[in-house]
Amino acid sequence: MTIRKTVRYIFLATAVIVVVIIAGGFIHSHAEENLPTSPIQSPDVWQARQQLVWEEFTALARAQVAEQERVQQAADAEEAADVALIQSGDQPAMLRESDREDQLIRSIIQGCDPAVAMQLPAVVELSWPLSGPMKVTSPYGERLHPIIGEEAFHRGVDLRARYGSPILAPADGIALYTATKTEYGNMLVVLHGEGIATVYGHLWKFAVHPYERVTKGQLLGYTGNTGFSTGPHLHFEVRQDGVATNPLEWLPPIETTGEGAVSQ
Ligand SMILES: [Zn+2]
Repeated sequence: MTIRKTVRYIFLATAVIVVVIIAGGFIHSHAEENLPTSPIQSPDVWQARQQLVWEEFTALARAQVAEQERVQQAADAEEAADVALIQSGDQPAMLRESDREDQLIRSIIQGCDPAVAMQLPAVVELSWPLSGPMKVTSPYGERLHPIIGEEAFHRGVDLRARYGSPILAPADGIALYTATKTEYGNMLVVLHGEGIATVYGHLWKFAVHPYERVTKGQLLGYTGNTGFSTGPHLHFEVRQDGVATNPLEWLPPIETTGEGAVSQ
């Protein structure tokens, strides 16, 4: 028994040594042979490659962000230059700024989160955004701009209003944007259902915040005389998918008096 056991152990130990030597030689030779082209990557190589891919990706993303910032800074500088020219009465600068602000409103409306826009109820009819007798002092369309002094498309109607008159939501919606711009002055954009938006210009102050839900008749702000404005009034626009339309086509009909004045 003892001899047979000893023999078995010697045999086993020899077998183990032989296996270790063969395996060691195999791994060693293969590791040397295949290192440059091995399709099997060690975790370290894989990690290093992932790191490289990630660094390339972040470098690209950084370059894109830097390019966007450069374009935005150039646009801001152009606008600042135009705003300075406007101070000295430069009319082409006023027209450029007017187009710029129109584009801004379009991009705000078109860039609204579709999930938010889809929740808004369809607009059946808009109501007038001011209370009491209404007078359209300047209609929608081509006109001689009172400040720019040139033919400039009027993207809305001007409604007569005393300074600080309450502006009321013409339909349910969401206050999308408030800003102080050179042409529009204190400006508010409200989004309603089905891509309809209303825009209010030259406000004295706002009574709503961006992304606040508004219901028809709710106070939005107060009329003023900010921006390109020759006296207190409300500049009111109705836009479809960002593009200005004639507000009178959306509003209830009003009586027209002899001098073109209209009252409710
Ligand atoms: Zn106007």
